[in-house]
Amino acid sequence: MAFSILESMAQPKVIAHRGYWKTENSAQNSLTSLRKAAEAGCYGSEFDVILTADDELVVNHDDKFKGVVIPEATAMVATAIVLSNGEHLPTIDQYFSEALKYPDLRLILEIKPLKTTEREMKAVELTVAKLREYRLLDRTDIISFSLDICKEAIRLLPDTKVYYLNGDLSPQELKDLNFAGADYNGLVLKFHEEWIKECHNLGLEVNVWTIDNKPDMRYFIEQGVDYITTNYPEKLMTTLLTIGQ
Ligand code: MG
Repeated sequence: MAFSILESMAQPKVIAHRGYWKTENSAQNSLTSLRKAAEAGCYGSEFDVILTADDELVVNHDDKFKGVVIPEATAMVATAIVLSNGEHLPTIDQYFSEALKYPDLRLILEIKPLKTTEREMKAVELTVAKLREYRLLDRTDIISFSLDICKEAIRLLPDTKVYYLNGDLSPQELKDLNFAGADYNGLVLKFHEEWIKECHNLGLEVNVWTIDNKPDMRYFIEQGVDYITTNYPEKLMTTLLTIGQ
């Protein structure tokens, strides 16, 4: 009985999308957004990693940003970019150094697709090396739209959870490739509503993005997803509290 009550109370965990940036003095993928996610009490904070032309990793969402094509630029050029809150675009070293200050915050690390398989393999190799260097592997999940990046991450890190973003693989296909689960767009999971249960039946987890309005938050809470990724983590926390009452 107690077990079933606990089970029925299980609620999705809150992940801030590109950090918590929809708040004062923050910016997407900034060091501040990581701190704000921790301070807001998020379970995790998602961020995007891009490999530069000179084999450095920097944190930003868009490949092309403020006139710079980051995969074709040097890290020096990429990190000269000033974000909307006045910070410079961070290197992965700066980002991981900041992450060490918030040991309870889970890191949801997205490796951005690149033009060639070789560059994608390099991005995974260097990301794994950095995670080892900063001893962050045990609190980091890896996500990507690139199946090649995901496969390489699963190969190099069999004990790390890797989730696929692109929405075009069924739960069984994810299971066969040793994914930890699906990290899919809300529209995909509404279209394939059965995939949430199928994932759970296969022992896979489900994360859904990017869920910013309350009706969608309620919908996916009721569907029993494991994680919700949102630009509005505090709104999601309030929604979870309301439903929990
Ligand atoms: Mg992302």
